[in-house]
Amino acid sequence: MLRGARLLVTGGAGYIGSHAVRVLCDLGADVVVLDSLYTGHRPAVDGRARLIVGDVRDPAAVTEAMVGADAVLHFAALALVGESVREPERYVDVNVHGTRCLAQEAEAAGVKAFVLSSTAATYGEDVPSPITEDQPQRPCNPYGESKAAAEAVLAAAAFPATFLRYFNAAGAMPDGSLGEDHTPETHLIPLCIQAATGQRDQLTVFGADWDTPDGTCVRDYVHVLDLVDAHVLALERMLAGGDGAAFNLGSGVGRSVRQVLDAVGSEVGPVPSVDGARRPGDPPMLVASAERARRELGWSPTRDLAAIVRDAWAWHRSHPAGYAG
Ligand code: UDP
Repeated sequence: MLRGARLLVTGGAGYIGSHAVRVLCDLGADVVVLDSLYTGHRPAVDGRARLIVGDVRDPAAVTEAMVGADAVLHFAALALVGESVREPERYVDVNVHGTRCLAQEAEAAGVKAFVLSSTAATYGEDVPSPITEDQPQRPCNPYGESKAAAEAVLAAAAFPATFLRYFNAAGAMPDGSLGEDHTPETHLIPLCIQAATGQRDQLTVFGADWDTPDGTCVRDYVHVLDLVDAHVLALERMLAGGDGAAFNLGSGVGRSVRQVLDAVGSEVGPVPSVDGARRPGDPPMLVASAERARRELGWSPTRDLAAIVRDAWAWHRSHPAGYAG
């Protein structure tokens, strides 16, 4: 159904966006990428897509990128909890104001569907896991607040919008050609791989005294290609006349920081680690109920933590210094 569809992908040079662009091009879509390249990587953009270097807050760039668009996939955003606690205004500007600019242009262009990369951080820390979509949204950090506000902007728009609330995106293209390359890297799995390979001295566990089974934080890790599959399903549903909706994208299985260390240990080698202080803004447990996505989108993740770590390692082995290496 996406063959020949004209899709605008913001943030298509970033981690999840670049995987989506690859898959959408494989499906025969006509993809335009709008990416500022502040954190994205030009070599990550599939050669079949047209790259426009620009910011989602720049109306001229957005107008150019939106020409003829049937649908928008909006990945471009700031997405680090710790950073958002330090610089909350930037999160409002990029994530909320940026989404508003894009939504205005999308309405003017008459797009038929819009998919927002949202997050489990829109739920609060007191929400019991597994988290269903109708739980109250009481974000406990500015990142989650900015994404909840972006959802509200889109809920009021003229086109159907689907909010995909990612839990912990991880993994890479299995052939090692695309992967995660952040500066500085803050995500658990790449940091564990760097510690296991001696690129960093050790991994600091952010709190070993949480009220969780082994005292470390529990998250729901989802393979980036499983996330992309959900985008395709959400787009197809809306382009077929279906409504927009909010979906949690997680496996329903929680893994502690220690379990991730063990999984990387099995695949890559022992991960030197030290127990440290809690990270501000971290909820102790975020695990999805993936029931609505299964029921309404027909989506369920197919790649487990071992596959996630294997693919992350394939990327790291072939690109130890990221796209620059
Ligand atoms: N974490 C950790 N040490 C690190 C980085 C992350 O213990 O150096 C923990 C973090 O507290 C969280 C989990 O690993 O419980 C996943 O963190 P990440 O930053 O990858 O994703 P987030 O959950 O913030 O989206």
